[in-house]
Amino acid sequence: MNPLLKGLNQKKDEMLALLRQLVELESPSTEKAAVDRVARLLGDCIAQRGGKVRVFPSRQAGDILRAEFKFTSGRAAGQILLLGHMDTVWEMGTIAKMPFHVAKGRAYGPGSYDMKAGIVIALYALDAVRAAGEGMRKNVVLLLTADEETGSKASRGVIEKEAWKSDCALVLESAHGPEGALKTARKGVGEYEIRVQGRAAHAGLEPEKGASAIVELSRQLLRTLDFADEKRGITINPGVIQGGTRSNVVAAEAVARVDVRITRLADGAKLHRRFMGLKPFDKWTKLTVSGGINRPPLERTKATAELFGKAKKLGRELGLNLSEVAVGGGSDGNFTSALGVPTLDGMGSVGDGAHANYEHVVISELPRRAALLARLILELGK
Ligand SMILES: [Zn+2]
Repeated sequence: MNPLLKGLNQKKDEMLALLRQLVELESPSTEKAAVDRVARLLGDCIAQRGGKVRVFPSRQAGDILRAEFKFTSGRAAGQILLLGHMDTVWEMGTIAKMPFHVAKGRAYGPGSYDMKAGIVIALYALDAVRAAGEGMRKNVVLLLTADEETGSKASRGVIEKEAWKSDCALVLESAHGPEGALKTARKGVGEYEIRVQGRAAHAGLEPEKGASAIVELSRQLLRTLDFADEKRGITINPGVIQGGTRSNVVAAEAVARVDVRITRLADGAKLHRRFMGLKPFDKWTKLTVSGGINRPPLERTKATAELFGKAKKLGRELGLNLSEVAVGGGSDGNFTSALGVPTLDGMGSVGDGAHANYEHVVISELPRRAALLARLILELGK
């Protein structure tokens, strides 16, 4: 067996224990104090491993943790960025209904797969790099954010600043599917709000004096569906709609929120113009459109394909036959990729059930994925 994997296999129980600790410390994006507790625990773990910890305080969201691992004694020839997030989509108290537990070789719990196991994998991979790290010429920066699940508004600037200084970014989001495929493309994500102001009137006595915000909004939403383009990978989903007061009143107000996804960055500007250019069908109504693309797509560039090629080759030594996938969901890797930094995503755990009540990771894959990450860091850091 590969010696690196053998060493990490011996750490499997330790990895599981740390995962348990992280899962049991709940950390919804919206609870700053809770996410900060996870940051403090991880800060201690990192300091014990010889990482230099810096905290970027945030007022709205949880603090961001930046850990630098120096593997070179002299001047480094570059930097490898590992990107993860400490927040989850799970409300405080979920752990009581969905406790951490192990069954049939899987570890269940809120936030286990997305993506606390990815953080555990990174820490043990860095231990292995340190142990094997002769010949590393680059340093590694592990950046752990606290608001990924709510759109990374507070952390985007820090992520981008770090990405500029990095030769590549490896994203610790979970791998895809039972085979644990890596992610070389992700769609870009945007959200628009369409608000309609109509005129209220009695639906029976004088409907002609009204202008229905609901009817107008319905027509607008049907129009936005035309912006979708299956071939180009553009999707439109009006996911939320609200409006009206009673069935016998012509609705004065209605609002909808629409999720949009794009595969190519260039499509974003055109789509934005189309949303902003929406005009009322009924001139007695008023339209207000706001929003935009908030995550550019992670496009499969040549450099990203090369990174995947390296990972695939190294994976073979570890008994992995890695494939690559394009997915519709966004991650913080979208930001680094849009800056032209070669980005490989899905370097975290193997499992299933992100954001679902059966969320879990495959325990035997924890050391193997840590070995893969370590091998890739050693290769890229030469
Ligand atoms: Zn995630």
